[in-house]
Amino acid sequence: MSKTPHGSTMFSDQHRPIFLRDEGRIRIVTLNDGRMNLLLHPMRGALYDALAAADEDPGIKAVLLAAEGTAWCAGADLTEMDSGRADADPSPAQLVYDLLQTMQTPVVAVIAGTALGGGLELALGCHYRLAKADARIGLPEVTLGLLPGAGGTQLLPRAIGLEAAAHLILSGKIVKAGQFADTALFDAMLKDDPTSEALAFAVALPDGSPPRLGQRRLDHPIPGAFLETIRNNLRGYPKRTTGHLPAVDCLEAAATLPLHKGREIESQKFFEARVADGSSAFRYGFLAERQSSKVPDLAPDAVKPSIQNVAIIGAGVMGQGIAMASANAGLSVQLLDLSEAALRASKDAILDIYEKSVKRGRMSATQAETTAARITQVSDYEHIAACDLVIEAVVENMEIKKTVFETLDRVMKPGAILASNTSTLDLDQIAGFTSRPKDVVGLHFFNPAHIMRLLEVVRGKATAPQVLAEALAFGKRLRKVPVVSGVCDGFIGNRMMEQYLRQALFLVEEGASPSEVDHALETWGMAMGPFRVMDLAGNDVNDAIRARHRLEKPDYILPDIPDILTERGWLGQKSGTGWYVHEKGAKRPLQNVILTEELDNWRKANGSASRKISREEIVERCILSMVNEAAEILDEGIAQRASDVDVVYLTGYGFPAFRGGPLYFADKMGLRTARRKMRGFAGNPHGDPGFWTPHPLLERLSADGISLTQYGADQ
Ligand code: NAD
Repeated sequence: MSKTPHGSTMFSDQHRPIFLRDEGRIRIVTLNDGRMNLLLHPMRGALYDALAAADEDPGIKAVLLAAEGTAWCAGADLTEMDSGRADADPSPAQLVYDLLQTMQTPVVAVIAGTALGGGLELALGCHYRLAKADARIGLPEVTLGLLPGAGGTQLLPRAIGLEAAAHLILSGKIVKAGQFADTALFDAMLKDDPTSEALAFAVALPDGSPPRLGQRRLDHPIPGAFLETIRNNLRGYPKRTTGHLPAVDCLEAAATLPLHKGREIESQKFFEARVADGSSAFRYGFLAERQSSKVPDLAPDAVKPSIQNVAIIGAGVMGQGIAMASANAGLSVQLLDLSEAALRASKDAILDIYEKSVKRGRMSATQAETTAARITQVSDYEHIAACDLVIEAVVENMEIKKTVFETLDRVMKPGAILASNTSTLDLDQIAGFTSRPKDVVGLHFFNPAHIMRLLEVVRGKATAPQVLAEALAFGKRLRKVPVVSGVCDGFIGNRMMEQYLRQALFLVEEGASPSEVDHALETWGMAMGPFRVMDLAGNDVNDAIRARHRLEKPDYILPDIPDILTERGWLGQKSGTGWYVHEKGAKRPLQNVILTEELDNWRKANGSASRKISREEIVERCILSMVNEAAEILDEGIAQRASDVDVVYLTGYGFPAFRGGPLYFADKMGLRTARRKMRGFAGNPHGDPGFWTPHPLLERLSADGISLTQYGADQ
C-alpha cells in the first residue's frame, strides 16, 4: 500500500483478498476473497500486514474489520489443514495472540455474516466486537477432529464464562450472535446499516490502550470439578472425536493458568489432536459430504429449485417417513394410498411422531401442528396431478410399480418429476413403463426416512440432467446428504452391504457365533453388528434377496444358515426371535440358545470344521469384502468417486466416522496390503474363494501410486 493522505481515500490491491479504505481517521479493512473469507495463507498474510500497518500509522485512530459476502470469516480452509501451509507465517494463532492482542490501535470486528472457527477466533482477538443479532457464530472444530487452536479455548470463556464456552466448543454448534448480546463477547448489536453504525462506534472510542479479552479474569467456583464431569460424560459420547477431550484440557488451562500458559497448552493440544489417529478422517468425511451432490456434467447452479409440492404414493413405513421429511422442509405433501386403513394408520403414526417430538422438546406444539397440517391423506390420483414431484413408495413388486407408473404417466402434469423409492428393482425398467423416462429418477431413502441423512439419488439411463439436478436440490432441501448412484442391484449401499453380510454369515458357518461377529465389528466401531442389523431389518428381507439371487444367479455362492431361521419363522425383532432373542424391555438382545445348537448341528452335517476365528479376521473379511465390491462399483461408473462410497457408509450404515469410510480405511491399510489380505482369504475353501480376487482397479491404482480415495476426486 502506498502512502496516501488520510481522508476518504480508496486503497485497493487486486492481488490481495482484502480491501482498505479510510473514513477520516478510521481505517476500514474489508475481507473479500469472493467466497467465505477463509483464513488461507494469503488472506492471513494480507490481514497481518494491513493491521500492522494501521497500528504503526499515527494518523489512524481505529480499524474496522468488516467483510463482503455472506460470511464475515468462515475460518480455516480444510483443504489447507493437513498441509504445511495451515501453520505458515502468520499462523492464525500469531494473528490473534501476537498481533491483535498486542496492538495499540483498537480493532473493531463488524460481524454482519457468519463467523465460524478461526473466524470467530479472529473476532475474539479484536478489541471490540459488533454483530448483527442474526449473524451465525460457532466453533465447530471438535466435529472435525480438531479444537479451536487460535485463541478460542482461552478467549471465549473469558468472554461468555466457562460453562457457556464449554457448551459452545464441545457441541460445535452454530448459533445466532444475539444469544450472547448481553455478554462481553459483543459490545453492541448492529441494526440496519452496519458500516455507519460501526463508524460512529469507532469515532466515539476513548483514547488509550484498548481492552483485551486476554486480560479479563475468568471466574468459576469449581472449574476442576465442572470439567471433570464433562470429561466423564464425553468418555461415553458416541460422537466424540479426537478434539473433544483435549479441548476440555484447554478449557481447564484457561480457568486455572495465566494466558501465556493457556496459549501454550492450546497450541500443543491442537497439534496433537490434528495428527491423532483418526483425526483427519473427520475432515475427509466433511469434505466428502460437500462433494457428493456435485455431478461432473452438471453446473452447480444448473437448476433453480422449483419443487413446491410433493405427492407420495404408498402410505406405509417409507411413505410416512418421506412425507414427514418433506413437510419438515416446508413442502406441502399429498400422501396417497389405495387402502383407507393404511391412510388412517399413516395419519395416526405421523401425529404420534410429532407429539413425541414436542414431548422431547425438539419442536414446539405450534410447529408440530403446522408441520403435520402440511400433509394431506388422499385416495385419488386427481388430487396429485398438479404436484411438481411424485415419489412412489408402494410395495417392492414390479407388477404393482408398473401399474402405479402407468397411472402416473397418464395423470401427472407435463414436467413433473416421477421418482421411485425402490431398493432393489431396475429403475430403467420402471422408467420404461412411462412415455417420459427422462423425467424418472430414483430417490432411495433410508428407514426411518425423516431421520436418516443418506439419500441415494439414482440416475437412470434416460434421466435428464435437469431432473437429476432438481432431485439433488430436493434432497438438500430435505437436509439429506444426496449421493448419485447408477442403476444396479442394491445401488451403492446395499450392493456392498450384501457382501458384508455374506461374509458375516460365512464366518458363522465356519465357527464364529453371531455375537462374536457383532462384537468384533462393534468394538472396531460399527454402530451395529451385522446380525443385529439383520434382526432389525427383518430376516424375511434378506430371505427375499437370497431367493431372487438363487433364481437370477444360480452360480453365486450363498450361505445356507439363514434357512435355519426361515424354517422356524424367526424374523428378528418383529417376531421376537432371530439371530438373538429380543425380550421386551431388555437393553440388549439375548443369546438364542436353540440357534447355537442348530448351528453346531449344521456345521457337523456340512463337514465345516468349526474353528476359532480371530477378531482381526472377522473385521478384515467383512470390511475388505465391501472394498472389493466398491472397486467394481467405481469401475462400472455406478459411483462417480470413491469419496461418495464413503459418504454412503458414513451417513447411512453406521460406519465409524473416525475410520473415514471403507475406502478411506483401505487407503490407510495400504492397497498393496489390502490386496495381499484378499488373496490370502481366497485360500479359504469356504466362503466363495473366487470373490477374493482383488478387483483390477485396485491393482491399477497401486501400480500408478494413486490412493483409492483420490479416484474421481477431481470431478
Ligand atoms: P409398506 O408395506 O410399509 O408400505 C407400502 C404401502 O403401499 C402400503 O400402505 C400399501 O397399502 C401401499 N400400496 C400398495 N399398492 C399400492 C398401490 N397400487 N397404490 C398405492 N398404494 C399402494 O412398504 P415400505 O417398507 O414402506 O416400502 C415401500 C417401498 O420403499 C418399497 O419399494 C421398498 O423396497 C422401499 N424401501 C423400503 C425400505 C424399508 O426399510 N422399509 C427402505 C428403503 C426403501
